Amino acid sequence: MIAVWQMNSSIISNKGLKPYFYPMKEPKNILITGGAGFIGSHLCRHMVSSYPNYRVINLDLLTYAGNKDTIEDLESYSNYQFVCGDITDKDFLEQLFKEKEIDSVIHLAAESHVDRSITDPLAFVKTNVEGTANLLNAALKQQNFQRFYHISTDEVFGSLGAEGFFTEDSPYAPNSPYSASKASSDMLVRAYGETYGLPYVISNCSNNYGPNQFPEKLIPVCIEKALNNEAIPVYGDGKYTRDWLYVQDHIEAMDLIFHKAENTKTYLIGGHNEVQNIDLVNLICERLEEKLQKESGSLKKLISFVKDRPGHDKRYAIDASKLETELGWKPKYDFKQGLDCTIDWYLDNKKWLERIHSGAYQITNSKKQ
Ligand code: NAD
Repeated sequence: MIAVWQMNSSIISNKGLKPYFYPMKEPKNILITGGAGFIGSHLCRHMVSSYPNYRVINLDLLTYAGNKDTIEDLESYSNYQFVCGDITDKDFLEQLFKEKEIDSVIHLAAESHVDRSITDPLAFVKTNVEGTANLLNAALKQQNFQRFYHISTDEVFGSLGAEGFFTEDSPYAPNSPYSASKASSDMLVRAYGETYGLPYVISNCSNNYGPNQFPEKLIPVCIEKALNNEAIPVYGDGKYTRDWLYVQDHIEAMDLIFHKAENTKTYLIGGHNEVQNIDLVNLICERLEEKLQKESGSLKKLISFVKDRPGHDKRYAIDASKLETELGWKPKYDFKQGLDCTIDWYLDNKKWLERIHSGAYQITNSKKQ
C-alpha cells in the first residue's frame, strides 16, 4: 500500500488549501533522469553550473542513446554525481531515493525515437510508462518531497491540420507507440498528483535541436550524411512540419518551470518556428555548402525521398503564450543562429560521431559505470 505524500505541518495549517498549490521550497538533492542523453546532458550542465548549492544526481542507464563522452566535463563539479541505473528497477530506485535523500526529480529518461517505437513498442511501454510509474512511487515514499517535474513532448497531441496550434487544453491524441507511451506517462504523473497529492509539474516541448543529439534524429542525420556524401533520407513528400526549438532555450524554460511554476501546472514550450522537413534539409545543405566551400547545389543533390513512416503526424505547432505570460519565458535563439551553432558543433566534433559509429562510446560507457 502506497503511503500518501507526507505533508509538512506548515502547509497543512495554511488556510486549508491543497498542499500541492504551494510553490516549491529550495531543493537540495535533485535527481535528473536521462542526463547522459541529448537534452538531459545540457540540463545537468546548466544545473550544476548555475546552482552550486544543489546536489545533482544524474541517473541514466546508458542505453545506446546515453553517452558518457557527452558528460565527461561534468565529473569536475563537486555538486554532481553520476549513477548508472534503470528506472524500470523499482527496488533500486527506492533505495537510491533514500540513500541520496532525493527531494525533487526532473524526469527525462525515456526511449525517444519514433522509428524505434514502431519496431519495438514494448520497450517504450516498459521504460516510458513503467519507468515513470516507478519513479512516481519512489517519490511518493520520500519525506519532504518537493517536486516531480515531468518532461514530455508535443507529440502527445497528435497531428494538426494546416491551421492552428496546440495549447495546454488540446486533447491528447497520440499516433505512434512513442507518443502513446509519453501520453501515458503524462497521465500517470497527473493521477499521482490528483490521487496522492504528489507535487508535480509537466511540460510538453516541440522538437529540440542542438549539439550532442544522437545521429538517428533528422538534423544530425542530415548533417552527417551530407558530410559523408551519402544519400540524405527524407520521409514521404518532405512536407511534414515541425516546430523547432534550440536546446538551450528548452533548458531555460525548464529552469523557470522547475523553480517558479505552481504545482499541477502544465506548460507547452515551442520555438514559434514551423519548418517543413524538406525546407530544413535544404537549409542544412546550403549552410554546409557555404561553410565547406562546396559548389552550390552539390549537397542538395544527395536528398532522397524515402517510404513514409506509418502513422506519421503531418504538422505540430505550439502556442507557448501561457509560459510566456505566466513565467516570462521567450526563446533567445533564432532558427538560423541555432542551426549554425548546431552545424558548427558537428563539424568541430567529428570524433564524437566517429566514436558512436565505431561503438567506442559504448566501451567507455561500460567502463565508467
Ligand atoms: P535521448 O534519447 O537523447 O536520451 C534519453 C536518455 O534516457 C538516454 O541517456 C538513455 O540512456 C536514458 N534512458 C533510457 N532508458 C532508461 C532507463 N530505463 N533508465 C534510465 N535511463 C534510461 O532523449 P532526448 O532527446 O534527450 O529526450 C529527453 C526527454 O525529453 C525524453 O523524455 C523525451 O520524450 C523528451 N522530449 C524530447 C524532445 C526532443 O526533440 N528530443 C522534445 C520534447 C520532449
